[in-house]
Amino acid sequence: MTDNARQKCGTIAIVGRPNVGKSTLFNQLLKKHLSPVTYKPQTTRYNIKGILTEADCQMVFIDTPGIHKDYITPLNRILNRNAKSVLLDADLILLMASCRKWTGQDQEIYDIVAQGTAPCILILNKVDLLVNKQDLLPLLDGFSKTHNFDAIIPVSALRSSVFENLRSEIVKHLPQQPFLFKDGEVSDRDRKFIIAELVREKIMKYCHDELPYAVHVQVELLREKAKILEVTANIWVNKPSQRVIMIGAGGSNLKLIGTAARKQIQSFVKCQVYLKLQVKVKKSNADGQMLSDIYVR
Ligand code: GDP
Repeated sequence: MTDNARQKCGTIAIVGRPNVGKSTLFNQLLKKHLSPVTYKPQTTRYNIKGILTEADCQMVFIDTPGIHKDYITPLNRILNRNAKSVLLDADLILLMASCRKWTGQDQEIYDIVAQGTAPCILILNKVDLLVNKQDLLPLLDGFSKTHNFDAIIPVSALRSSVFENLRSEIVKHLPQQPFLFKDGEVSDRDRKFIIAELVREKIMKYCHDELPYAVHVQVELLREKAKILEVTANIWVNKPSQRVIMIGAGGSNLKLIGTAARKQIQSFVKCQVYLKLQVKVKKSNADGQMLSDIYVR
């Protein structure tokens, strides 16, 4: 590590409307699958900090839940408050949008960002979906005339090279200050939290309608024995009818969720995982009675 005086360190908030690719970018930047990524909006429910430490720079990325306008529930209100407070605290903001469409919601987020003082880079994502690559130049030109971004960078967050495209522009905007986290720390969240989020990601993927939004996942037990990590996670739902959907006919849905989640957890913890999922109903079973179990090896 170089001397402290030359160290750069700062928080970088990744913001944007749901589904533009924030979690995908976050995971690419961190080279770890930390934040849930699915095709469904509103998957990210919490702010997760991912820490990337290099010799003379520490980047603390914050993946924020999207800002919601159309569908305001008490949960969304908390998410909004959360996302806005992240914006105020960040040293740099990466505003993500799809290169295919700038929507009213993108503009609203830009307006919130513009009220603050932090520099803001527009990340125009999903360039791989542009049929005509020549459309990109006029698009960049248009944004530089109508908006006040510190930089505009087109990327595809799916590509592993995305960090190389962004790195120097990010480092440029970070303040010189000592590192906030110890070398080797990858997240401010513990393993239980990240594993619960990985299970929730698979629930979002395999459950339809509004069910996933009623679900809370809690990792009850993590135990390492003979190089196998034993994980017990509770999936809490609100009603017995939701438990039935979650489990599926003959346990088929829970089996799908469990198999996919186990693979993802294995790639995160880098060892074999034995996953036990328990579906429990929150309200009707105040005593926490277990309603169903499934084991996935
Ligand atoms: P978030 O809600 O903003 O965090 O969005 P996600 O990261 O969950 O991504 C939403 C969807 O867009 C997922 O299906 C991603 O695989 C997809 N996605 C993200 N980045 C790209 C990209 O660069 N190109 C394409 N084609 N799809 C992407």
